[in-house]
Amino acid sequence: MADILYTYKNQVYANITNLCDCRCEFCIRSHENGVGDAETLWHKVDPTLEEIIAAMDAFDFNGYNELVYCGYGEPTCALENLVKSAEYAKEKYGVTVRVNTNGLGNLYHGKDIVPTLAKVTDAVSISLNAPTKEEYTRVTRPKFENAFEAMLDFAAECEKMIPQVKMTVVDVLSEEDIKASRELAESIGVELRVRKYT
Ligand code: SF4
Repeated sequence: MADILYTYKNQVYANITNLCDCRCEFCIRSHENGVGDAETLWHKVDPTLEEIIAAMDAFDFNGYNELVYCGYGEPTCALENLVKSAEYAKEKYGVTVRVNTNGLGNLYHGKDIVPTLAKVTDAVSISLNAPTKEEYTRVTRPKFENAFEAMLDFAAECEKMIPQVKMTVVDVLSEEDIKASRELAESIGVELRVRKYT
């Protein structure tokens, strides 16, 4: 079985699904089988809630204050397992929870999932990727036509209900595009974080 919990740079991550509704041109999944101490992050079959909880119970959370849902897939595609396992981890291991997401969960599920997500999420990091719909669509190749608008709406909803919300771009963008991305994020009340390309 693939690693469900793995560590990378002193942070623990939960890899709960390989489903994703984007095909980002930069996605690490296309050129590596794992990250950090994970041998592989490809599940033969996505883990059940029981398997996720068993992986948590087998992990030593000493020294880790935060659990990040981020793996070889979009964590909100496994919303029910995300929420139930996050509840378990918060209650049993006292961690806070961050979700790294493409922000398309409302489109994927056909409903507003933010109130559900907000019950267990202390921080959310949403991939903005680019400041325009055209560029966003080119690099993320989403399954849904109105993904860019839906991702922005999702971020605005998160801002109302989740304590820490950030949108991210990678520092391969031009200074002009980073500035435009920052203005766009701030126009919906969200801080932009510029990540280093690795
Ligand atoms: S949203 Fe994340 S997991 Fe999905 S293709 Fe893009 S980078 Fe990969």
